[in-house]
Amino acid sequence: MIKVLFQSLRLAFALVCVGVGLILVGQWLGVVPDSRLIELDGRKRQSEAIAVNTATMIRGQSWPALEASLTAIVERDPSLVSVGIRTKRGYLRLQTSQHGDNWKLAKSGDSVTADWPVGLDTMRVPITVNQQDWGQVEMCYQALSGPGLASLLNHPLMRLVGFFCFAGMGAYTFLAARIFGLFDRTQVVPDRVRQALDTLAEGLLVLNEKGEIRVANKAFCETTKMDEQQLLDLRASKLPWVGGQQRPHSEYPWARALAELKPQSEELLRFQLADGTQRILSTNSAPIISPDGSNRGTLATFRDVTNVEKQRVEMERMLTVLQSSRDEIRLKNKELEVLATQDSLTGCLNRRAFFERLAHYWNAAEKNRWPLTCIMIDNDFFKNVNDTYGHHAGDELLRAVSKMLREMHDQKDLVCRYGGEEFCVILPGRDARQGERQAEQIRTRIEAIRLPEFPDLRTTASLGVSDLSHQPADPQDLINQADRCLYVAKRQGRNRVIVYLPQFSAMDIDESKVSRTAEVEAEETVSVPFQAVMALVSALAFRDAETAEHSRRVADLAVTAAQGLLDQRQTYLLEIAALLHDIGKIGVPDNVLLKPGKLTPEEWQLMSKHDRIGVEIVAGTFNCETLSEIIRTHHAFFGGRGKDSSLPTGQEIPIGARLLTVCDSYDAIVSDRPYRKGRSHQEAVDELRRCSGSQFDPEIVEHFIAAIEHKQQAGETTRLSVPKHTALQLGLQIERLAEALDERDADSLHALASRVAQVARHSGVDSIADAASRLEHDAASDDSDWMHLLATTVELLDLCRSTQNVFLAGQSEPLLVE
Ligand code: GH3
Ligand code: MG
Ligand code: MG
Repeated sequence: MIKVLFQSLRLAFALVCVGVGLILVGQWLGVVPDSRLIELDGRKRQSEAIAVNTATMIRGQSWPALEASLTAIVERDPSLVSVGIRTKRGYLRLQTSQHGDNWKLAKSGDSVTADWPVGLDTMRVPITVNQQDWGQVEMCYQALSGPGLASLLNHPLMRLVGFFCFAGMGAYTFLAARIFGLFDRTQVVPDRVRQALDTLAEGLLVLNEKGEIRVANKAFCETTKMDEQQLLDLRASKLPWVGGQQRPHSEYPWARALAELKPQSEELLRFQLADGTQRILSTNSAPIISPDGSNRGTLATFRDVTNVEKQRVEMERMLTVLQSSRDEIRLKNKELEVLATQDSLTGCLNRRAFFERLAHYWNAAEKNRWPLTCIMIDNDFFKNVNDTYGHHAGDELLRAVSKMLREMHDQKDLVCRYGGEEFCVILPGRDARQGERQAEQIRTRIEAIRLPEFPDLRTTASLGVSDLSHQPADPQDLINQADRCLYVAKRQGRNRVIVYLPQFSAMDIDESKVSRTAEVEAEETVSVPFQAVMALVSALAFRDAETAEHSRRVADLAVTAAQGLLDQRQTYLLEIAALLHDIGKIGVPDNVLLKPGKLTPEEWQLMSKHDRIGVEIVAGTFNCETLSEIIRTHHAFFGGRGKDSSLPTGQEIPIGARLLTVCDSYDAIVSDRPYRKGRSHQEAVDELRRCSGSQFDPEIVEHFIAAIEHKQQAGETTRLSVPKHTALQLGLQIERLAEALDERDADSLHALASRVAQVARHSGVDSIADAASRLEHDAASDDSDWMHLLATTVELLDLCRSTQNVFLAGQSEPLLVE
């Protein structure tokens, strides 16, 4: 501002100097009128007129009239001080207003008197009367130019120059300041630069040091739908920014850029347009520093990121949804994992989870010489309970026993539902004496069980206790010892606790357990660690979840059907054989293994190889002849004429293999396949009976049917279409898939989506399979858009969650999630 004023003053001064010069030249050239000359001329004429009049009066000797006339003239003309008539001899014949004195003073040159400070000019006109010189008329006028400086200042030219200087400076300064201001406002940048700024796609503002807009380019005007004239001189911080009312000027990026002398980048501001919509602008501001180091203002650019920002916000929202879905799925997976270890009726550990944990305890006890005790519990005359009160009562009783057992034991003890009405409890760190005391407590508590629904129902149990003191060969042998105690307890009258003694092993434990084959008689001491079995099953589940699930179902059927046919150890080996009978599928390529439709003959050939691979895997891993034999011969035809003539026939086929083939076939008939729906239990039974004698052992078929129907009556049917292991598998894989998305790992995402699609398709969960296939396809394309992938993944997670929910909702007992 001061600078503009200073510049304006300089310009005004120059203009005034030029003006004064021109006035003086004009004066010299005479083009400027001189009022003094005009006045002088007027006086001359007046003097002559007075002289003519005076001559006339003298001729007529009218002296009084002459005096009156002259007095009147003097009075009328303020510049005429006095008039005198002097004869040619110098005698002042007539005068007005002390003309004699004035004349003398004027002639003496000492014109400054108290009466007349300015000075007097004199004039005289000769008078001729009758053509003779008579005398003269004398006049004293006020001096046209005063004495010294005063007269100079009083000079009209000087007055004109003075006025011009004074008024000119003011007027010109004002004018120049306006011009400079206007110049500043509109011509900050030359036109060339301006055109360049207008070609920029980004909005741009040039602000002065007060933050007022000096330039707004075309892009800014278009984005904000304002024209430049509206914007100029406005403070940029006063534009309609959303939330701008609460924001002081100093907090805007352009103000900070100027205050800190540092560029401010990528700050988001929301601009409210006149129509009420908003634009999101990403702002960069940089201070403008002049060469002398002073701040000249700020340059601010504005990129319209409304769409990008909207997408980002949407992406963030989806990521949050993804995260919460993922968390929920993780929790559900945990629940499913717990569920996978539990028996559905009683909530106790199921056999497989039990064996896995027992293997840990066994190893730790062996290594550290810690004691370990096993209690087997078998309810007495349980069949009678079912027969008298119904299966519902039996179920309730089993729940009551298991609840009591779980309450009596803490987390580190294992409580397992070992068979129908049999429970097994493992007490790590305790020996047989402590175990006996615990068993006694269990016995009395079972005796005390009362069911409100069945008030007169009473029950007892027989219990067997074994520990490591009689050197069991493996965990199964420890359980066998307790099982033998049970047999003794039953024989001694039931409702009692028996602790294992070595002589029990020599006893013929049960005449009803028929068909004990030679290889089983030759007691095997080789241990089959359950952890290793489960590791193989997990590997199979990863390749082909459906087959792993089928194996689990066959194992359950086999354990059920083994009751009354096999002893504990044989049952254990059969269960493992059932779990591993399809393990060879690990070696079949994916395109055949997971093919949704029917297989071609070549593919069948490839597939049939899996039997041989399976035998090799099992033989190589466990070195247990009985186990390998069951798996090798489980396709053998009882009546001969099977595909493989090297396989045994009839009673030569191990009993485990004869049982396994029935269970395997039954599950294959009742389960859904990609190309056909599962058939009913009755159809499966008919089919088994039809092939009885040729393919299957008739005695085993009937035993199997009785056991299964018995179990179905007991109400333990599979309640859900998606088996819990499949639900868990899908859950775990989808969890990994969300992780891959989080890490923007397109390759893993593609691979995992493909895996989920196959598992889901195979398990008949088509909604998940479709979403996963889409994701697989999208993740494979080169221009895959993460936003799109995210949306599909969120959809997939939702489907997975609802599948898990359906499964978990089918659970009657609350889950014990650690
Ligand atoms: P013992 O005293 O000799 O042990 O006689 P028991 O009747 O208990 O023995 P057995 O082994 O002959 O019969 C066991 C019965 O338990 C067979 C079956 O009816 C019943 N059972 C097994 N599982 C369940 C189940 O889940 N629910 C019900 N209600 N009953 C079951
Ligand atoms: Mg029993
Ligand atoms: Mg019983």
